[in-house]
Amino acid sequence: MISEPALQPFSPSALQHFRTSLRSQLLLPGEPGYEDARKIHNAMIDRRPGAIVRCAGVADVIASIRFARDNEVTVSVRGTGHNVAGISLCDGGMVIDLSAMKGIHVDPAARAARAEPGVTWAELNYELQAFDLAATGGFVGTTGIGGLTLGGGLGGMVRKHGCALDNLLSADVVTADGQLLRARSDHDQSHHHLYADCLISS
Ligand SMILES: Cc1cc2nc3c(=O)[nH]c(=O)nc-3n(C[C@H](O)[C@H](O)[C@H](O)COP(=O)(O)OP(=O)(O)OC[C@H]3O[C@@H](n4cnc5c(N)ncnc54)[C@H](O)[C@@H]3O)c2cc1C
Repeated sequence: MISEPALQPFSPSALQHFRTSLRSQLLLPGEPGYEDARKIHNAMIDRRPGAIVRCAGVADVIASIRFARDNEVTVSVRGTGHNVAGISLCDGGMVIDLSAMKGIHVDPAARAARAEPGVTWAELNYELQAFDLAATGGFVGTTGIGGLTLGGGLGGMVRKHGCALDNLLSADVVTADGQLLRARSDHDQSHHHLYADCLISS
């Protein structure tokens, strides 16, 4: 029998309240969908989170961060799960799974796009190509825009247009205290320090 890692102790009523507050699914060990949700690209990684939140939008991310903070739960963040070391999955703790967040909006006039963190490079380029645009992302279409960009991001256009991170204009960041802030590359904009943190995280 496999022993299930638990979340750090907190009351069942807090967990129930958290579940009902979400727009998305909260998956606990043994529940339908849990085993599939803990699979990542590197099949050698076999970790069993105490809970997986499959976020539907920013409100779920904020709720998850606040719940984790209030209950002192370890978290990991999952984009499309391609990090080879498997850092998107924690043992015990809570996975904030962003892979279902797939929104993409292209602004052809600005030659820019805004995309949610579960989007892959193939999905982003599909939308961009409708406007004769392309993004400098990774070589492999299945990798996620989030983890790849935060890691620098080397792709086929790197010599001409630089890394993915060089082309990041702004990022919406949910901070550890559950606030949503927009970190912008322009030095004169508020929260530029958070943009610098995105660069440092690489
Ligand atoms: C088959 C394959 C091909 C690859 N090709 C390339 C390539 O051509 N060029 C290249 O540069 N790299 C490449 N990589 C490496 C890839 O960029 C990294 O593995 C990257 O982490 C994948 O992004 P992801 O969103 O899937 O990461 P995940 O594994 O989901 O996440 C890894 C970590 O990134 C952070 N993270 C991800 N998204 C967010 C977010 N929205 N907010 C905050 N933190 C976040 C979290 O700390 C998370 O734990 C490749 C990897 C694989 C497996």
